[in-house]
Amino acid sequence: MSLEIRDVRTILTAPDGIDLVVVKIETSEPGLYGLGCATYTQRALVVQTAVDSYLKPFLIGKDPRRIEDIWQTAMVNPYWRNGPILNNAISGVDMALWDIKGKMAGMPVYDLLGGKCREAAAVYRHADGRDPQEVLENVKRWMEQGYHYVRCQMGGYGAVGIDQGRRSPSGSQPGVYFDPDRYAQSVPLLFAFLRENLGFDVELLHDIHERVAPIEAVRMAKQLEPYRLFFLEDPLPPEQIEWFKMVRSQSATPIAMGELFNHPLEWTPLVINRLIDFIRVHVSQIGGLTPAKKLTSLCETFGVRTAWHGPGDVSPVGYAANVHLDVSSVNFGVQEWAGISERLREVFPGSPEVKDGYVYPNSEPGLGIDIDEAKAALYPCSNRVPEWTLLRTPDGGPSRP
Ligand code: MG
Repeated sequence: MSLEIRDVRTILTAPDGIDLVVVKIETSEPGLYGLGCATYTQRALVVQTAVDSYLKPFLIGKDPRRIEDIWQTAMVNPYWRNGPILNNAISGVDMALWDIKGKMAGMPVYDLLGGKCREAAAVYRHADGRDPQEVLENVKRWMEQGYHYVRCQMGGYGAVGIDQGRRSPSGSQPGVYFDPDRYAQSVPLLFAFLRENLGFDVELLHDIHERVAPIEAVRMAKQLEPYRLFFLEDPLPPEQIEWFKMVRSQSATPIAMGELFNHPLEWTPLVINRLIDFIRVHVSQIGGLTPAKKLTSLCETFGVRTAWHGPGDVSPVGYAANVHLDVSSVNFGVQEWAGISERLREVFPGSPEVKDGYVYPNSEPGLGIDIDEAKAALYPCSNRVPEWTLLRTPDGGPSRP
């Protein structure tokens, strides 16, 4: 049967105030189309240009069944590769092609990936609070709703210390001021308090968000060991991966890493040297389902589990792709879950559902999710320049977010 790509376009929408980028690919077969997530929320318009101005002319007329060939050639067509803009653009195309293939086969994507090895994927939720007592109450609230994994942070996302200990020189630049020492000292105290009150029958997680000096991350992993974290997330920035050897040699706290990764050379040494326990890349950021399924297999070989990045700036299409991977991978660990609001569900019918701490994939063919374009158009993107990424240390200098 002859089949070709007839149209490729981006749909930008922000039902919950977060700019989302979705790619829709239409084929020569009437009614046969696919959707993919290409959300790089901080630079959405640049991804849109990459898709509409470059990938569209590259793809028109090609056979949508040839996913591997299209992924490989789309990656090198611009010659320079592995950057966040083009990886997200390619992801939008790649997931849409898997969606089309599933619809053609009459199978959900998890069946194309080898079939389910679990019915649903365990998710973790995020508990914050101004002090340990408030964090405890929020953890209990998630537990009462059936969740068994909770990430615990204090004082605004990421850390206590935001806008505390401000002692910057006069004339310092505006930004989000953060005290890494105050933060680092607060975390072991928080987990001592939580374990004392909750015991060990709930999985607790924490995200350092690469906000401390490397040696401080080593110390934190050691200090947190008695509290049996399910994992300690992003202890180091991608530029400092050599330090993982020291983290590993000093503690048995499980380590999760990777939401900022773009390039295979960032994760490969960590996986094959068994320096991390969970890979948690942002699937659209590495180029979509095609590289993610290969990364999953690489990790399986070396005893590393998956924990795909799942914040609010993943579209429900991207969430669906994560869940198809989760239920079909033997080395699945846990799925980050920011939740899908009713408004998002109206724009994206078929969004995966959570029940008692587990997310269930849709069993419809393909990714099992659709977009109501008329409703999506009701929520235009803001294209604001983000402010939360402008972190500064107490002396006024710029810091990694
Ligand atoms: Mg994180």
